[in-house]
Amino acid sequence: MDHFLYRDGELHAEDVSLRDIAQAVGTPFYCYSTATLTRHYQLFAEALAPLPHLVCFAVKANSNVAVLKHLGDLGAGMDVVSLGEYLRARAAGVPGERIVFSGVGKTRAEMRAALEGGIRQFNVESEPELEALSEVADSLGATAPITLRVNPDVDARTHEKIATGRKEDKFGVPLARAREIYARAARLPGLRVVGIDMHIGSQLTDLAPFEAAYTRMADLTRLLRADGHEIERLDLGGGLGIPYTRSNEAPPLPTDYGAMVRRVLGDLDCEIEIEPGRLIAGNAGVLVAQVIYRKEGEGRDFLILDAAMNDLIRPAMYGAHHDIVPLTEPEPGVALAPVDIVGPVCETGDTFARQRPMPPLAAGDLVAFRSAGAYGAVMASEYNTRPLIPEVLVKGDHFAVIRARPTFDEILARDTLPPWM
Ligand SMILES: *Cc1c(COP(=O)(O)O)cnc(C)c1O
Repeated sequence: MDHFLYRDGELHAEDVSLRDIAQAVGTPFYCYSTATLTRHYQLFAEALAPLPHLVCFAVKANSNVAVLKHLGDLGAGMDVVSLGEYLRARAAGVPGERIVFSGVGKTRAEMRAALEGGIRQFNVESEPELEALSEVADSLGATAPITLRVNPDVDARTHEKIATGRKEDKFGVPLARAREIYARAARLPGLRVVGIDMHIGSQLTDLAPFEAAYTRMADLTRLLRADGHEIERLDLGGGLGIPYTRSNEAPPLPTDYGAMVRRVLGDLDCEIEIEPGRLIAGNAGVLVAQVIYRKEGEGRDFLILDAAMNDLIRPAMYGAHHDIVPLTEPEPGVALAPVDIVGPVCETGDTFARQRPMPPLAAGDLVAFRSAGAYGAVMASEYNTRPLIPEVLVKGDHFAVIRARPTFDEILARDTLPPWM
């Protein structure tokens, strides 16, 4: 459920008309709903409530500091994968003891900064990383709390590019070697084992792969405890999928996910950490764009928008579907006709939808891409020297720009000429 609904024939974000925002900030722009962010965070918190838990928002899904601050103020922790994300979480006021550091290629500089700034735990993904972290922590006279990310060899049955829990994927240490590597971790200076971590993929629409992975995690917990390790936290990763279309069958709800977690892991006396990104932010955001031209091609029509693949790359990168709706509600029963919806970038891949049945739309009309709050703005680039588009946050009948569109002067000022020119 989200808070982007038609009211009096116009699409609103909560109590604000998206057309009013478009007039104020220009198109294209991202717009997020505070109420939807809150609701999705709380669904997870409630689903896990009977167990000690921490919901760590996956910052890579949407890293705007205002979004992070809102979630942090609700009590969320943060899952970061770079020093930049760590600094964003800290700038949002989230204390180090609620920040988990994930990622397959943490550098020593990143480890040092997080240890000095305060960190809840590092989710370590390999033996070389374990050694590096041990050295860095030891040299600082610090102790790094760690989990090992264990690859359970479970196929998440999701898009090839976002499945992470099969043995051929680059993530984590193999389950079969976990005991040996935990033993190694326990011997290294500067480290303290606190738990186990898994993350098997993103946009999962079925609970079965999660359950298979968490069952392996429960078995591993018992084994590692028998080996003498203190397993007090289980980090279950993120990955719960969202409905990208109104029509197709619904992915599992956080409530069902929570019930499964309690059933599989509830009797282990561990604190549960989860790292949802998409489910919290995805349907909490839309991208609003304007039709620049309607072009009649041979056998097909094109709607050319002022938004492009550099603003929202998911269709080009994953073949992802986003519902695209007019800001003005179509008359009931209006005939739909297929169009290709494209951006202005010089690549055929800059296509948002092919032969999408749409109500009549003409140059100047405004449209919204739904489900654009996660992996949208964060993946944007300035390809074709198109400025990063602004982000707007709505709360009730208020809205505010939470990242402004850069000017061309700002963009050009980042390039410098070498001294010989
Ligand atoms: C991407 C990622 C997440 C978030 O995944 P979602 O599908 O957005 O919930 C969580 N944890 C790790 C380690 C990740 O890489």
